Amino acid sequence: MEQLYADIILPLALNPLTFQVADQLRETICVGSGVAVPLGENKVYTGIVCRLHHNTPPYKRIRTISSFVRSEPLASVGQLALWEWMARYYMCTEGEIMRAALPSLLKPSAENDDLFAERIYSHGREQMVRLGPNITNEEQLNEALEAMMVRRKGQYRAMMEFVEAVGVENLFGGAVPRRELEASAAIIAKLTEQGALECFSREAVPTYDAAQLLASTTLSDSQAEALDKLRESLRRHHTALLHGITSSGKTELYIHLAAEVLATGGSVLYLIPELALTEQLTSRLRAAFGPGLSLYHSKLTPRARTEMYIRLSCSAGGEIVVGTRSAILLPHNNLRLIIVDEEHDRSFKQEDPAPRFSARDAAVWMAHNLGVATILGSATPSLESFYNAYTGRYGYVWLGERYGEGQLPQVTVSDTIKSAKRGERKGHINKELADAIAKALEQKRQVMLFQNRRGFAPYIECPSCGWSARCPHCGVTLTYYKKGNRLRCNLCGHAEDAPVKCPACHQGEPLPQGFGTEKIEENIAALFPEARIGRLDGDVAASASRMRATIRAFESGEMDILVGTQMITKGFDFEGVSVVGVLNADNLLCRPDFRAEERAFQTMVQITGRAGRKDSLGETIIQTSQPENTTIVQAARNDYLAMAKSQLRDREAFGYPPFSRLITLTLRHSSPELVFRGAKALATRMQELIGRSVSDAHAPAVSHVADIYIMEIMVRIERNDSPSDIKGLIREAVGELSKDKVFRRISVTINVDPQ
Ligand code: ADP
Ligand code: ZN
Ligand code: ZN
Repeated sequence: MEQLYADIILPLALNPLTFQVADQLRETICVGSGVAVPLGENKVYTGIVCRLHHNTPPYKRIRTISSFVRSEPLASVGQLALWEWMARYYMCTEGEIMRAALPSLLKPSAENDDLFAERIYSHGREQMVRLGPNITNEEQLNEALEAMMVRRKGQYRAMMEFVEAVGVENLFGGAVPRRELEASAAIIAKLTEQGALECFSREAVPTYDAAQLLASTTLSDSQAEALDKLRESLRRHHTALLHGITSSGKTELYIHLAAEVLATGGSVLYLIPELALTEQLTSRLRAAFGPGLSLYHSKLTPRARTEMYIRLSCSAGGEIVVGTRSAILLPHNNLRLIIVDEEHDRSFKQEDPAPRFSARDAAVWMAHNLGVATILGSATPSLESFYNAYTGRYGYVWLGERYGEGQLPQVTVSDTIKSAKRGERKGHINKELADAIAKALEQKRQVMLFQNRRGFAPYIECPSCGWSARCPHCGVTLTYYKKGNRLRCNLCGHAEDAPVKCPACHQGEPLPQGFGTEKIEENIAALFPEARIGRLDGDVAASASRMRATIRAFESGEMDILVGTQMITKGFDFEGVSVVGVLNADNLLCRPDFRAEERAFQTMVQITGRAGRKDSLGETIIQTSQPENTTIVQAARNDYLAMAKSQLRDREAFGYPPFSRLITLTLRHSSPELVFRGAKALATRMQELIGRSVSDAHAPAVSHVADIYIMEIMVRIERNDSPSDIKGLIREAVGELSKDKVFRRISVTINVDPQ
């Protein structure tokens, strides 16, 4: 008998390795099987089979795999296809993706809680078979059958047997128990490998009744129309952008579409950003979908993750998973709908560690390659998605009115310089904002104030010599905290007492400059002594219970004013809020990033959207020293189209995404001199290989963090370039650097499509 080999993904930064398959596994092993892999002297890893073949590998010593970690597959064929694409596209290894996807208890089996593993592995479940990811319609099926009819009779017979067993009306999406088919394991394995069939295990599936799920809501006319359009555009494009203003009922539409899919046995993946607090949204979804809903996020225990992973890998469909970006890597069976809620949010992109992938873009890949309908939804879409819709690659659905009585709030731009000149500025609050707050308090309504800096002041400065306190380990200033008179670094945590006398000139007394959330809290308390004030920022969020208590207090009306950073701009739905204030919009704009304007617009519109969600009493005040600034004017008018037009024009002129793609290489080492020289050498080599689209090596705005020095090189991939060729050349250059006697000590990371 010809020797059978398996290429196996290991949870390491390695490409798949080839192993020999022991005879006793021959009949049962398939693509997706989880196997125990011996590596090194006495290490055992969990590996996943990604290919079966007969090509003897060129290694001296080929090791053999002889046992499964579970009898059922650990990964589905669609899942493996996604991983393979991700590894290629994001320039990482499938092993790194496996490491991010698999819960720790399923990884190196030597370190596992054996009893637990045994219990979940040995759960008896029925093996099922259905059509694979390469056969999603009749045309593909006929093509496949024709190809097999001539040269691969065994496969043809097995396919026909399957078609008969499952029934024509049930062909796409339906499944039959494995034992009902006579085809041999080898033939089923071959068909699985080709993506013609797929094996999975069945467990009890929750059943959903769409009518019952949707009984509690009636869509408004414009919502119903948008829903029809969404369905239609998903049929035509696979991916649709739902552009709906804040509080227009996008979530309601997602619930409708999800219910329809679930009721017919399909699965739904609902992706959400890493919100400070997901409770509001998830409790609403739980109310809609009941206990069958699975939540997946970074705070789950290893055990809960493992149970969920196993349960999903055994499911036949009918699952709804709500999760943050890594949820896209899970084994989804019969997945028919992906919703990417707040698709513009940058947390869908993982920046560190590898895989540095975008869950949103992976969802779009699944839409186009695995036929999963994908909705990207936002009130402020990313320009990439908007441009894709504009050019017809995605469908586009617009929902332009708020549900019910709610109107978009009245927005006022308030000039901080003029206000100060007129003597109307009290601390950091202009008269317009102070009046609006007073009115809201009088009407027993609530107020949210946004300032994107935490602490009391972002830095302290000596008035005589200009010295400012900087972190001894990082390239940033230290944030000043009034409580305890402390200075703290927001990057590495370094803390010290604030000096009374300037350590540089020994004369001046350094003073806090600028303002953060703490200072606003103090400012507001002085202006409105009777108001109950809370704060929500990175410092509060360090304690989960303190954060939750703050949100609860605001939600229940025990608090009148909430001061916060970015955290309060996202997703919250507080009925009582009538006034929103942006204390210093200037901060949002002056950033060395080509996305600064887009982000500033998104932040301002999202925070504005927190006001007046239930009625028409909402009001937003944006304070700025640049009231004429184009982006501020566009945000105040909620004019997304104007923003998109002007920004896209600039992006095109300067060759930024979506008119090009970027790849950033980041080099890190504790020696600034070494990393500087290494980056220069690498940039020069890449310029030789690739050409002018490679930037010179440069230090980023924050040049070092925790005593590690950083250099960057940026590669721009233009429309006419071949991304895979360029990626190959980058790999070559990085490979050379890692072989250099001196430079090999530098760590190099590659980030494709940095956010
Ligand atoms: P978005 O996701 O666009 O911000 P939501 O779906 O959160 O909007 O809707 C805003 C508010 O209006 C929510 O409190 C929601 O429950 C309510 N709402 C929206 N559509 C309906 C509807 N058809 N029936 C009842 N309530 C609705
Ligand atoms: Zn000084
Ligand atoms: Zn620091």
